[in-house]
Amino acid sequence: MAKYKLEYIWLDGYTPVPNLRSKTQIKEFASFPKLEELPNWGFDGSSTKQAEGRSSDCVLKPVAVYPDSTRKNGVLVMCEVMMPDGVTPHVSNTRATIMDDPDTWFGFEQEYFLYQDGRPLGFPEFGYPAPQGPYYTGVGYKNVGDIARQIVEEHLDLCLDAGINHEGINAEVAKGQWEFQIFGKGSKKAADEIWVARYILTRLCEKYGVDIEWHCKPLGATDWNGSGMHSNFSTKYMREVGGKEYFEKLMGAFEKFANEHIAVYGPDNHMRLTGLHETQSIDKFNYGVANRGASIRVPHSFVNNGYKGYLEDRRPNSQGDPYAIAGRILKTISTVPTA
Ligand code: ADP
Ligand code: MN
Ligand code: MN
Ligand code: MN
Repeated sequence: MAKYKLEYIWLDGYTPVPNLRSKTQIKEFASFPKLEELPNWGFDGSSTKQAEGRSSDCVLKPVAVYPDSTRKNGVLVMCEVMMPDGVTPHVSNTRATIMDDPDTWFGFEQEYFLYQDGRPLGFPEFGYPAPQGPYYTGVGYKNVGDIARQIVEEHLDLCLDAGINHEGINAEVAKGQWEFQIFGKGSKKAADEIWVARYILTRLCEKYGVDIEWHCKPLGATDWNGSGMHSNFSTKYMREVGGKEYFEKLMGAFEKFANEHIAVYGPDNHMRLTGLHETQSIDKFNYGVANRGASIRVPHSFVNNGYKGYLEDRRPNSQGDPYAIAGRILKTISTVPTA
């Protein structure tokens, strides 16, 4: 038997976006614990905006488990928050709103800023660095500074150690801005992995004296890019049957529910979806083949394959909750009849 450090991770009740919370419990197992072996646990919901002081217990229900290579016998345990009965999802539990479908695939492209002393890492104390241009996929101290690459590389290794399905990383358009991409098969898998990857990154940066700025437009109305979380999605029907007629009906549904989508695509998105910087404006909905100024980009491959494959919703922002985003996309898709 060995003592494992189980880091139970959950989302708190703050709005408009939840924060990550976590705490450790030690338990003995003969080998790395499986999900079924992990017990429910509790926490004080009155400290996380999830309960009143009078009856403050909330339940943590493990839903996914990952090796944590930063600790000896470390385990990261992603949890859903449940009511004291242990079976009713708490209102803050957006994961519970995602329809279960092993054949839905999501790919999220998470952009973010590294921040130090209240400004993007690499920005001078006063004024701005050289304008955008060389930073995207850039190399060299003058473009990426000295510790940023160390952070993103370490983050990548920790995520790969955890079994998270990263597809890639890149330096982004603004100085101090980076991206990682995660793809997952199953309606909840990539969303779980985005939250755990956010957790690993945020925790990793503690020792560098760096914070992650997830806000979609931290530099406001300037010529500095904002951060998105493009959400690529496909159902089995979209991949295997599809067709132009179904696609047009699907886009009709996305247009009809445009406001409901924007409502869960992250706060302050009006600052980012302006119609500039490769975005469509927040009050318009459109789609277009290979159009990076559209709400939904239709890849060339989709059209070439007879309107089959995946689509990219470009509206979700970097601070959006991937659970709420995935749940909303699936809900809209489910309103469109399949032949
Ligand atoms: P960018 O939008 O940055 O140009 P891509 O269009 O290449 O990047 O990224 C597309 C993303 O779509 C991939 O990273 C992957 O996560 C996701 N993806 C690819 N195929 C599918 C699919 N069949 N279903 C859902 N997502 C997919
Ligand atoms: Mn990308
Ligand atoms: Mn990007
Ligand atoms: Mn994209």
